[in-house]
Amino acid sequence: MATVASSLANDVAVKATKLLINNRWVDSHSGRTFATINPATGEEICQVAEADEPDVDLAVKAARQAFHSKSAWRRMSAAERGRLLNKLADLIEKNAEELARLESLDNGKPVAVARAADLPLTIACYRYYAGWADKIQGRTIPIAGDYFCYTRLEPVGVVGQIIPWNFPLLMQAWKLGPALAAGNTVVLKPAEQTPLTALRVGELLLEAGFPEGVVNILPGFGPTAGAAIAKHMDVDKVAFTGSTEVGHLIMENAARTNLKRVTLELGGKSPNIVFNDADLDQAIEGAHFALFFNQGQCCCAGSRLFVESKVYDEFVDKSVARAKRRTVGDPFDASTEQGPQVDQAQFDKVMSYIDAGKQEGAKLLCGGGRVGDRGYFVAPTVFADVSDGMKIAQEEIFGPVMSIIKFRDLDEVVERANTTMYGLAAAVWTRDIGKAHAVANTVRAGTVWVNCYDVFDAAAPFGGFKQSGIGRELGEYGLQQYTEVKTVTVKM
Ligand code: ADP
Repeated sequence: MATVASSLANDVAVKATKLLINNRWVDSHSGRTFATINPATGEEICQVAEADEPDVDLAVKAARQAFHSKSAWRRMSAAERGRLLNKLADLIEKNAEELARLESLDNGKPVAVARAADLPLTIACYRYYAGWADKIQGRTIPIAGDYFCYTRLEPVGVVGQIIPWNFPLLMQAWKLGPALAAGNTVVLKPAEQTPLTALRVGELLLEAGFPEGVVNILPGFGPTAGAAIAKHMDVDKVAFTGSTEVGHLIMENAARTNLKRVTLELGGKSPNIVFNDADLDQAIEGAHFALFFNQGQCCCAGSRLFVESKVYDEFVDKSVARAKRRTVGDPFDASTEQGPQVDQAQFDKVMSYIDAGKQEGAKLLCGGGRVGDRGYFVAPTVFADVSDGMKIAQEEIFGPVMSIIKFRDLDEVVERANTTMYGLAAAVWTRDIGKAHAVANTVRAGTVWVNCYDVFDAAAPFGGFKQSGIGRELGEYGLQQYTEVKTVTVKM
């Protein structure tokens, strides 16, 4: 498990580091830049222009201009918008290896994972929404009286999009795909930890031929550039993915200003429920993946792992053995399963939860410390005998820390699974189809996986109940969040 710093990462080229406003690469108004860090080494990769309020203002003006009725964007046919999105998907595919390496360098995820998951899902998402562009249709409605009544689905307008660092390319696609298919214009802020692939996609947007001002990309920090987007009086909607805490701030800013539409995809503490009758080896591997995938940095991570009492001991032993086999190290090494956490702050947060688990009396069975002496690597960690009230069972850890909890029967586990402020995802492992559906129908979560985990498709909606979010991304539901319904009534 020795950590070799990313020597193989040296040949990753960084091409775009400025702000993209109105199809031009510009320095920030303040002239300030910030460092983006390689999480495998803790070293600076490069400096990136730092957007703040004046830059947001310029970008919103450009986006508003592009949205205006006589712009190239508004005159473009829906089919042509779809063609541009397909072209973008083709360009991302053509540059997939470069983008996978850049994602790995900036985020720390294994390049093999970026190649196998992030890139194909990103490309599929753009293609999926490209297909929707000319199929966004209203209805004719048989109202009373001598009238012709119909609806039009119009774009919302200028959309602010604030994305996180755990899947930078994919979260950009989840945001840009539906927004552009529906005809909106965009001001997008990547996370300060991972601005590089979003900016490279900015170059590809230009190469694809998107008109001026349609997509503006502003790297910068949350409380400055992010808040400026959420507060802006001329932004019609804000779409945010990140922590529940910041979700509250986004909504507050929208409420205090112009009541811009808000969609939120927030945190989770997702129950993953394993019954006695499950295919145990499949459930163990599935639970391992559900928790440790992407260094545990998934909003839908299966971070409350409920295991029925009869198989509990065997499940724990085998899960510990699997975690011990997990390979941690250089993200550019093909055999690496787990890279570093994204930054020092996340590393410290994960460590503080491991301390809390120990202090509250959970049984630490493996891991618990750092790996290597540089970068932000955390050893795959498993706690057993976790109880519902412990901090590690209540709060989102966002790291490679598995918490295994014992349960006795179906009714009890569903009630305990629902005792949380979150409701993003859940999973159930069983051979009994009745039990599977009983859980699927009663657990309060936006996604339920049965005998699988983290199965994503651009066509299948994703989002949260309760404080895990508002609205849905992906699928037709995701598209709806980027349209306004207009009812037109004509006297006949
Ligand atoms: P995490 O805690 O996992 O880093 P955050 O919710 O802080 O997640 O960050 C997700 C995104 O939200 C990032 O792009 C970040 O810059 C942005 N952000 C953070 N704080 C604010 C804020 N007050 N207003 C708007 N955006 C913010």
